[in-house]
Amino acid sequence: MAALRRAAFPAFAALMLGLPLLPVPDFWITQSSYIGLYALVALGLVLLTGVAGLTSFGQAAFVGIGAYTAAFLATKVGVSPWFTLFVGVGLAVLTALVLGAITLRMSGHYLPLATIAWGLALNYTMANMEWLGKYDGLLGIPSLKLFGLDLGTGRGLHPLIWTLALLAALAVTNLLDSRPGRAIRALKSGATMPEAMGISTLRYKLAAFVLAAVLAAVSGWLFAHFQRSVSPTPFSINKGIEYLFMAVLGGVGHVWGAFLGSAVVRLVEDQLQVLLPKLIGTSGNFEVIVFGIVLVVVLKYAPQGLWSFVDRLAPPARRHRDWAGAAALPARSKPGRGELLLDVQAVRKTFGGLVAVNDVSFQIRAGDIVGLIGPNGAGKSTTFNLITGVLALTGGAVTFRGQPIGGHASREIARRGISRTFQHVKLVPDMTVLENVALGGYLRSASGSLKAMLRLNRDEERRLFAEAERQLARIGMGGQMHELAGNLALGPQRLVEIARALATDPALLLLDEPAAGLRHKEKRALGDVLRQLESEGLSILLVEHDMDFVMGLADRIVVMEFGTRLMEGTPAEVQASPQVRAAYLGTEH
Ligand code: ADP
Ligand code: MG
Repeated sequence: MAALRRAAFPAFAALMLGLPLLPVPDFWITQSSYIGLYALVALGLVLLTGVAGLTSFGQAAFVGIGAYTAAFLATKVGVSPWFTLFVGVGLAVLTALVLGAITLRMSGHYLPLATIAWGLALNYTMANMEWLGKYDGLLGIPSLKLFGLDLGTGRGLHPLIWTLALLAALAVTNLLDSRPGRAIRALKSGATMPEAMGISTLRYKLAAFVLAAVLAAVSGWLFAHFQRSVSPTPFSINKGIEYLFMAVLGGVGHVWGAFLGSAVVRLVEDQLQVLLPKLIGTSGNFEVIVFGIVLVVVLKYAPQGLWSFVDRLAPPARRHRDWAGAAALPARSKPGRGELLLDVQAVRKTFGGLVAVNDVSFQIRAGDIVGLIGPNGAGKSTTFNLITGVLALTGGAVTFRGQPIGGHASREIARRGISRTFQHVKLVPDMTVLENVALGGYLRSASGSLKAMLRLNRDEERRLFAEAERQLARIGMGGQMHELAGNLALGPQRLVEIARALATDPALLLLDEPAAGLRHKEKRALGDVLRQLESEGLSILLVEHDMDFVMGLADRIVVMEFGTRLMEGTPAEVQASPQVRAAYLGTEH
């Protein structure tokens, strides 16, 4: 099966590039050209919506930018079509950067709404500008010439369309399997986890957005030369919805799903446009209704899209372990045992009238395991979030290795050497265990999207995977590195989070309730891992609800209740304290 998958791409590429040479009807060539043009746009949406989780209804407008640039420059200015490609792509990049900077900070439903708004606005501009021909558009676009050969609009242009579509598919495939690609794949799980790994989520949202716009603009440029004319209709919001439909139908998140979705939509749409008016008895765009119904059915029964069935028939091959002997990633200078590492000074956090953390102070020295315990609602997680920069301080200060970090962004704090796990596990479920842990190596590597698309990042990738495997072995999970993280039980998932945090090469490890929800045996295994890490000299702040678990591990314990520090001492002192007992008994039983 793996061999079949490997052979599939060259076979498919040969077929699509050679199709015009076969004795097939012209109509087939036209349909196939449309599929290639659509797939370019849908591919961008697979990346943007499927992978990064950012829904855009406005992609057709970027197609329009590419098409209108080509049309205007070729007919009114008379420049070479190959030059207009660069201008069109450049304009799309600029537009995407501006629109993205404004809209990508929006959350939830506002972003899709914003894409509708600018999709309409751009289309309205095309339809109302005198110099763009208003609703009639621009006519008489010359055909493309390559080495003196006129490509025309049929059999000649088809190989160019498909060359670009296939190259784009390879580039996106390469990107997704890379350092920046993993950052993009992590976006769907929310901002907190990627930011804690040092990833600027806005930057990668913008990268996905710009790349999707570029692919749309290339499709538009090809479209202008394919049709030899442009008008506003093919770049309307209706078309934008249709592009999204192709991406969702084929498979959100699957590169080849974009091609499958485009093919299904193009072929079925053509049939429906003839069939439906006959059935219903009047003319109209009834296929939209059918697509709407199909979309609901697909989302219900195959939310991963049609391509997921192909993946089920021929599962993707397991990653080839090619990183033996790769050089280690850069490491930071480690604090000497006993050095003051973290100094929490009277930190305070209020939520409205509620004082969640009330002037709490404590210190952590290098090589120590410090436990932060207290009943539910005591303010442990809030303290944790103040230290890691997830929440802003209301008062107080935090210094780490002598530098103030209070008020810094969490990715800046990660850069300085504090790494963390999450009370509610935040792994990327459809990435393997190894890829999840490799996310931790983000700040110790540098390759960007362009390098990744051209596959010039292999050396660094090997170093990242070698590090990820090393950290998995350290916590005893080397054997499960190829499994999907989402398929693991909670206990192993928590261990993977620890391995990911270790891959950042932390000077201080912060764990938020790592034992919560674990079974007895899993707790013991976790305890062993933490003791092992301590013996290797790592410093740990362990936030925990389960007293017994902390007692056997921590050197010192800070007890919180109702937002305040109740006491601090050795496990024996804490255990002997009537105050602590009262706090736990009072709220627990
Ligand atoms: P713990 O982790 O010790 O169980 P938390 O730090 O989660 O406690 O919560 C401390 C208190 O702050 C609780 O009363 C909780 O309801 C409140 N709290 C926590 N986060 C928020 C928030 N984002 N908005 C309002 N109240 C919050
Ligand atoms: Mg908590």
